[in-house]
Amino acid sequence: FTSFIQIDLDAVTANVQAIQQHVGSTVQVMGVVKANAYGHGVIPIARAVLEAGAARLAVARPDEGVQLRRAGITAPVLVMGYALPAEAASSVDHDLTPTINTPEMAEALSVLAQKAGKSLSVQVKIDTGLSRYGVMPEEALPLIQHITGLKGLDFEGLYTHFATADEADKSLARRQLSIFAQTARQIERAGIAIPIKHAANSTATIDLPEAHLDCVRPGIMLYGLKPSAEVSDTVALRPALSL
Ligand SMILES: *Cc1c(COP(=O)(O)O)cnc(C)c1O
Repeated sequence: FTSFIQIDLDAVTANVQAIQQHVGSTVQVMGVVKANAYGHGVIPIARAVLEAGAARLAVARPDEGVQLRRAGITAPVLVMGYALPAEAASSVDHDLTPTINTPEMAEALSVLAQKAGKSLSVQVKIDTGLSRYGVMPEEALPLIQHITGLKGLDFEGLYTHFATADEADKSLARRQLSIFAQTARQIERAGIAIPIKHAANSTATIDLPEAHLDCVRPGIMLYGLKPSAEVSDTVALRPALSL
């Protein structure tokens, strides 16, 4: 016997198109291709996701972003997770979009971006309840004020991630979304524009339309899988992997 895995890129294309149709043309799709595109092979998947209309990609770690750039992918790539200080330079060299967590990280990136003569897009993630990377809501405004005061950095977006959106009960997700909205309002009232706000993983993309905001961040559904048995079937998905 020979066993092999087959990846159907047409299924990925169809899934991205179904997502875009579901969220509407005013909402961007940021395809989450971390962890080797959930094991599907990141480069062909990333190309298919972008060709199908996704505006952006997201990965967990800087080295994953570098891999995309080396393959010639030029779309915006958000690095959602932790970056070592030593990885700041590769984010600048490869025009990745880091998620800034501390004033020190902002300063280091600012110095490197200025040296390279670049304006580096950066984002900030707020921890509204998941406790996995991100700043506390009350830390967001001072951090973003610090970022916008530094040369070489372009504050591009604010986001959060849901702790329990896979469950049918959306009350915690709604509470997180309300903390996010309050924090965003506070930042905007301080005179800082937030070009893109985003929160929705696959479950919220499917079942929590108020979380779509400017951009959705689907991962598992790109590959044609429902994030859990509890989400509805309102977006038709085609599994991309077969064995
Ligand atoms: C993995 C991840 C996603 C995608 O989650 P899915 O449940 O696979 O859709 C979105 N946002 C962040 C921050 C993630 O880490």
